[in-house]
Amino acid sequence: MRIHHIIIAFIFFQSCTPNQQADLIIHNATIFTVDDAFSTAEAMAVMDGKIVAIGAEHEILNAYTSKNKVDAAQQFIYPGFIDAHSHFLGYGIEKQQLDLTNTKSFEEVITRIRVYIETHNDEWIRGRGWDQNDWATKEFPTNDSINKLFPDHYFVLKRIDGHAVLVSDNVLNLAGVDNLSKINGGEVVLKDGKPTGLLIDEAERLLNSVIPDYTEDFKLNALKIAQADCFARGLTTVCDAGLSKEDIDLINTCHDSFLKMRVYAMYSAQNDLINNLTEIGYKTERLTAQSIKLYADGALGSRGAALLQPYSDDTLNSGLLITREDSIIKWAKACYGSGFQLNVHCIGDRANRITLKAMGKVLQTTNDRRWRIEHAQVVHEEDRGMFADYTILPSMQPTHATSDMYWAEERLGEGRMNRAYALKSMMSQNGIIALGTDFPVENISPFETFYTAIVRRDSLGYPEAGFAMHEALSRQEALRGITIWPAVANFEDSLKGSLEVGKYADFVLADRDLMNISQETIRYIKVLKTWVNGELVYTR
Ligand SMILES: [Zn+2]
Repeated sequence: MRIHHIIIAFIFFQSCTPNQQADLIIHNATIFTVDDAFSTAEAMAVMDGKIVAIGAEHEILNAYTSKNKVDAAQQFIYPGFIDAHSHFLGYGIEKQQLDLTNTKSFEEVITRIRVYIETHNDEWIRGRGWDQNDWATKEFPTNDSINKLFPDHYFVLKRIDGHAVLVSDNVLNLAGVDNLSKINGGEVVLKDGKPTGLLIDEAERLLNSVIPDYTEDFKLNALKIAQADCFARGLTTVCDAGLSKEDIDLINTCHDSFLKMRVYAMYSAQNDLINNLTEIGYKTERLTAQSIKLYADGALGSRGAALLQPYSDDTLNSGLLITREDSIIKWAKACYGSGFQLNVHCIGDRANRITLKAMGKVLQTTNDRRWRIEHAQVVHEEDRGMFADYTILPSMQPTHATSDMYWAEERLGEGRMNRAYALKSMMSQNGIIALGTDFPVENISPFETFYTAIVRRDSLGYPEAGFAMHEALSRQEALRGITIWPAVANFEDSLKGSLEVGKYADFVLADRDLMNISQETIRYIKVLKTWVNGELVYTR
């Protein structure tokens, strides 16, 4: 009895005394906790990487003391942002290669190659980022001029979306690709019966045996570059949408040294994994790997998205199915049996329909498997209900809508365009949507995602009235879409995505109030500091 009283007295004493130790106290802030009630707080205390208390200024300061106290000067704290679909390693790889983004013509591509060659000794020149839709001609390039101008170099130049690649003739020759080469789910583009150097989707696999592997040092550097850029934008978890087993193992190793970024890694659907899912996977503090990423189809920009009806601007073409229905079902069964999540890239309405049905066959009913459709870009109205029927989560990229809107209607026609990029309709199915950027395809910043989700205009302010505004999200939904909802889609909502007691101290200090500033100011918000696990990892 007496011991019992002492314990009660001790607990009472503990909760009233102002000197409980914390590793870190943040105070004098507006903290958007993004909890269920969307409440705000003024201060929080962190111990051993987790939040131990959050609430009013006096509550926290009366109860906790710390050598490490941060006065937020009445600025704004958000949960660390989560990008639900990115290519984290790929971003760092591309940062070290020839940058072809925002070129306005193929001549500009040539100019950039010249500049690159002056400063690099590489025999193989790899680049990414061209987009023929940004050029006056809007036509796919051919390799004629690079063959003539730079015969001593081997070129591998990827389109912005990664779904098409332009290579020089010497690369085609090395790989033995000619006008007769065929591959399921891909296309060797010909002109006058001869390969143009352009390979779409699975056709890139024809090059697998000849393109040199990246060295480990190159990859380590890639991770360092990507991590630094992500922390500077307030990202504390990234989903890498498709990595080899070897690269996931490498990331796990790097978590013992320089890599502090939390990674949700999806295994690319390599055939040798399908029977071994129970033997792979990670669940550590900084790495979760328990999902398979499949590609049902290609991308809209290169007309590789699989449509139910032909392209409006190419009436003999309905796109490419990269993974056939029976194969999707095989993967779905393997994932289901081993507790893996299945995440399928679906752009076109045919890819979405086939995948939703295949998932439905295995899932049968509502469930907590949290399988995802990545992109869910063009979904037929009649198919939307399957997201709710089988609790399939949409993982979408608001900036794809505003990047594509200049040409997507030519591909799709008005009718299909009206039901494409349907953030709100997709969110309504399960009351949740995971948002991402697909970087390096789009800008890395989560504020761009937030802005585009609510305003539906691009960086030039186009279109003035916003694109299909009935599909816009509210600010609160958009903030959930880059914090707690991707955490749910990653099975990590008990640890991340909101600032609540017991969760990781992953958070961001920014200079403006996302909920209340003018729309046009949103894109200029600055991340001032970023913390992961209570550790300061970025200061502006
Ligand atoms: Zn992607």
